[in-house]
Amino acid sequence: MRTIGVIGLGNMGRGMALSLRRRGFAVMGYDPAPAAREASAADGIEIADGTSALWPACDAVVLSLPTPEVVEAVLLGSGGPLHGAKTGLLVIDTSTSDPDVTRRISTALAPAGIDLIDAPVSGGPKGAHAATLTMVIGGSDRAVALAEPVLAAMSATRVHVGGVGAGHVTKLANNLLCAAHLITAAEAVRMAKDAGVDPERLLAGINAGSGRSGVTQVNFPTWVLSGAFDSGFTMKLMRKDVRLAENLVAALGLDLPLSQAAARLWRESADGIPDEADFNAIVTLQLDPNA
Ligand code: NAD
Repeated sequence: MRTIGVIGLGNMGRGMALSLRRRGFAVMGYDPAPAAREASAADGIEIADGTSALWPACDAVVLSLPTPEVVEAVLLGSGGPLHGAKTGLLVIDTSTSDPDVTRRISTALAPAGIDLIDAPVSGGPKGAHAATLTMVIGGSDRAVALAEPVLAAMSATRVHVGGVGAGHVTKLANNLLCAAHLITAAEAVRMAKDAGVDPERLLAGINAGSGRSGVTQVNFPTWVLSGAFDSGFTMKLMRKDVRLAENLVAALGLDLPLSQAAARLWRESADGIPDEADFNAIVTLQLDPNA
């Protein structure tokens, strides 16, 4: 593995491209948005004319794309790897995506000798730049072993959870929990505030007890109580993740009442909280950030 492509140079992809280059890989990137291309070019990343230029030049291509629809268009569309790729190309999808779409794409690429692994990430743009991301990985043992040097250049923690698609199932489960925890933590803070307990002291108590979560330990102190709301992860992307989790629950024919209630609150929040807002803004269903 020497030359790595990165498709999608947004908040996450830009940092991953830089982390790969720091580890000594030759990195080529592509993004249709001029501002994203210019920012990465200014970082010294070589920018390709389009996706079709990347497949024949790269040993592995990392995707960091907004939706499953975009991932499918990039991989199975006319500018995709089936129309000319280096022998043994490995595709690493770090987007948060739909496991069924991922499995379908993998099946379509396999006859051309192209391996796909799903390696969605946690850790935000900061983690992407610092190469401290956590990855939950789906793929064959062989493909995951092949990808290891590339994955290690972008992440500090990697958990291989199963075959193709298992990474995306795990990431949707993780983000469904995070989305629900943001709502339940905001409700707990609201209750305690109205009962006369200071939110910072409340969190100190919860974080020493069994009700703690990543949301109470990281999100509330870093982005909510500070008033910063600048995590680099938008309402639009979290709504997409919750929608994908909701679709998976429905496709499996499951009745999961708390998950479904959380999904409904995230969906309905589109009326009052814009797509561009930080995803932690969901707490404003219960809390006034200016109070
Ligand atoms: P982003 O919107 O900042 O970046 C996505 C980039 O993809 C954009 O620059 C866009 O122009 C580009 N793009 C759109 N269509 C394209 C196409 N056809 N070909 C190539 N590029 C295309 O989003 P992000 O925050 O970087 O997130 C990327 C993925 O990572 C998403 O799936 C998201 O859910 C996931 N994720 C994000 C975070 C975070 O904290 N931001 C954390 C974990 C996972």
